[in-house]
Amino acid sequence: MMTPQSHTSSYYAASINQTSDYPQLEGKVRADVCVVGAGFTGISTALHLAERGYNVHIVEANKVGWGASGRNGGQMIGGISGDSKMASTLGSEGERRLWDMGWAGHEIIRERVKTYNIQCDLKSGYVDVAIKPRHIRDLQAYYEQLQKFDFPHAYKMLSKHETQDLLGTEAYIGALRNNGNGHLHPLNLCIGEATAAVSLGATIYENSPVLEIKRGDKATVVTAKGSVSADFVVLAGNAYHFLEPKLRGILFPVNSFIIGSEPLSEALINEINPQDLAVCDPNYILEYFRLSADKRLLFGGRFTYFGSDPEVIKKNLIPRLLKIYPQLANTKFDFGWGGTIGVTANRVPQMGKLAPNIIYSQGYSGHGVNVTHLAGQILADTVGGTLERFDVFANIKPTWIPGQHTFRNQMVALGMMYYKLIDRL
Ligand SMILES: Cc1cc2nc3c(=O)[nH]c(=O)nc-3n(C[C@H](O)[C@H](O)[C@H](O)COP(=O)(O)OP(=O)(O)OC[C@H]3O[C@@H](n4cnc5c(N)ncnc54)[C@H](O)[C@@H]3O)c2cc1C
Repeated sequence: MMTPQSHTSSYYAASINQTSDYPQLEGKVRADVCVVGAGFTGISTALHLAERGYNVHIVEANKVGWGASGRNGGQMIGGISGDSKMASTLGSEGERRLWDMGWAGHEIIRERVKTYNIQCDLKSGYVDVAIKPRHIRDLQAYYEQLQKFDFPHAYKMLSKHETQDLLGTEAYIGALRNNGNGHLHPLNLCIGEATAAVSLGATIYENSPVLEIKRGDKATVVTAKGSVSADFVVLAGNAYHFLEPKLRGILFPVNSFIIGSEPLSEALINEINPQDLAVCDPNYILEYFRLSADKRLLFGGRFTYFGSDPEVIKKNLIPRLLKIYPQLANTKFDFGWGGTIGVTANRVPQMGKLAPNIIYSQGYSGHGVNVTHLAGQILADTVGGTLERFDVFANIKPTWIPGQHTFRNQMVALGMMYYKLIDRL
């Protein structure tokens, strides 16, 4: 049985605007829709539903934003993971539709930040950097897509010299700068959206792990002390979901870790990131970084580790950061934390139904800040009876990953080895 936990040792948890403090679920309650999981998928869905007048109840095992949504790199990246595979299933118009869907999450975030006055340090500006010549070719192809679809924000290919100048490092040989992407404080966004949903009548329960979901005309979500009976249930537990074996078995849990430095001096900032951009490399075992609002460097990467000791995380990531920025050799690191990402075999996010009135969305494969917000809108549409965009995802059959339940850690370790090899090519 899951024991409710408080937030992890992240910079985000230490710089929260307001602590969420919702009650545990007790007794029997009734809802139009019950959402399981209060990350971006769950909260985003609930806010869309509350805006449309539904009586929605959200049941969270721990705290609002406790999972990946409150721990991530905060990089707001356009596009849907695996979209090239999806385009082939959609015919000639599919490419444009997918392109638009790939940017819809950004618009939802920007609009909510404005409408509900959410303080989450939202900024524009992002660079995809290249390490090898094949990365430049990929970025050039992406640049041509931006042109083809008349991308409305500023974007530019950067030469080796321009990239090195912009980022104060010799680690990269070129880049694509895109001001349509950006970065934000994810936990403050998630908590702000939850507050907005509650202001519109939604009910949130924290510290309430769901133990069972009973099928029926009305589905019933059961916790240790209570239950919610609802016309619709939305499952939004993603990589932290262990309840429904069918969902667990189609998702790879991949751990990613982040370190947070002390606030950097103005001189250092001017040298390494004067334009306050989010930066991401193209490897599978990728590295990503950006500055926080109080000018800490938040640097993330993946390695095989299943614990949460900040010192172990710092020990693994600091040497990697110093390869990019030797000028930070004397910088202190105040934070180290990690979280689990839901990755699918074909990289395409998974949406589907476990019963006519039980739907789910998961597996954004590292592109979740944006796509969870799109997913929330699609799931809310599905509750309302419009399945057009839901079916785009639901029609793609997910791959069952054998051994997922029994050999979880070994599989993650094997996956890391495989992707490290691919990155070396
Ligand atoms: C370290 C890290 C860095 C990342 N960086 C980026 C990035 O820079 N940009 C980007 O776009 N994406 C990034 N991601 C991915 C992104 O964070 C996720 O795709 C996204 O947050 C998923 O949101 P979610 O709501 O689906 O899942 P989560 O945020 O994981 O939420 C699931 C929630 O469900 C709850 N839950 C599970 N089971 C139960 C149960 N039985 N009962 C009740 N509640 C339950 C959990 O407690 C949890 O709060 C990163 C992820 C990690 C871990």
